Amino acid sequence: MNHAIRIHAHGGPEKLVWEEVPLPDPKPGEVRVRHRAVGLNFIDVYFRTGLYKVPSLPATIGMEGAGVVEAVGEGVTEFKPGDRVAYAGALGAYAEARCLPADRLVKLPDGIDFVQAAAMMLQGMTAQYLLRRTYKVQKGDTILVHAAAGGVGLILCQWAKHLGATVIGVVSTPEKAEIAKAHGAAHVVLTGENLPQRVKEITGGAMVPVVYDSVGRDTFLTSLDCLRPLGLMVSYGNASGPVSIPDLGILAAKGSLYVTRPTLNTYTASRADLLATAQELFDVVLSGAVKIRVNQTFPLKDAAEAHRALEGRKTTGSTVLLP
Ligand code: NDP
Repeated sequence: MNHAIRIHAHGGPEKLVWEEVPLPDPKPGEVRVRHRAVGLNFIDVYFRTGLYKVPSLPATIGMEGAGVVEAVGEGVTEFKPGDRVAYAGALGAYAEARCLPADRLVKLPDGIDFVQAAAMMLQGMTAQYLLRRTYKVQKGDTILVHAAAGGVGLILCQWAKHLGATVIGVVSTPEKAEIAKAHGAAHVVLTGENLPQRVKEITGGAMVPVVYDSVGRDTFLTSLDCLRPLGLMVSYGNASGPVSIPDLGILAAKGSLYVTRPTLNTYTASRADLLATAQELFDVVLSGAVKIRVNQTFPLKDAAEAHRALEGRKTTGSTVLLP
């Protein structure tokens, strides 16, 4: 018996249906994993609404999980039944068990439990590539992080501080401001404030070399105004809606700016990159430099409730679904 949350049509949280689904044997190159915990991510909302495309309907959404290997397909040598594993970036995670390509899995170190793993693989590896590869944060940098009390946000704040950067976080409420500050944000700006003006004050007029913007449509243009000349705009999410740039000339007018729209899948496409990214994440978590805050858990069958909380901006830190 295997249950999963599937969508038969795109739409609101009510489209998430808990139902019985087949559980095939792993194909060549695949592993079957019994989930102990499943990660909730904003990307799950995009797949549910149809902003991002699923291959076909009905579809099991969810990109991240942690659990135990139950069976391996032909040709799989790196994993065996009983191994503790986790992954991010493979659609189909909202299930009690599932098959996926072995090359997307990593083994979990002893010090990391399943709930922590399901909370951190996607958000934590994202923080890794954003801070270490998209823009290599240096000691002494002052950087701007939107949704600073969110899942990716809290990891970015802690990790950037660990790298020696000063973080300016943006959040929507005073309660979230306290949470961001407790996790490494040196300065916090509330969403209603004049952000470029506040960044100017905080940086003594220098502005920032990089903005990490996951909010998208509502904040894109304001974020550009927070950058110093030749600064890098990292638009890595669309919580408020997708971004389109009508005229590239705006980048010239605002100081020969750079823009990138990165995604974790590109940065972990090769096995070597995936393993290196996961290892750096495990290192900062095991050393205690970055704490993974699982501030909400929901039964997997109640994924709709979890989506309402995430979209309603009611969550902080990471959220895990329990099968
Ligand atoms: P979060 O926990 O950050 O939740 C989203 C937060 O965004 C909210 O709590 C809220 O914080 C803020 N927000 C601002 N405007 C809105 C809005 N209109 N609706 C809802 N929330 C809004 O989610 P995740 O940590 O899962 O993901 C953060 C972002 O990072 C998402 O945009 C996601 O798509 C992106 N992402 C991108 C990846 C990539 O590789 N490109 C990988 C992983 C995540 P507040 O109330 O403080 O404003």
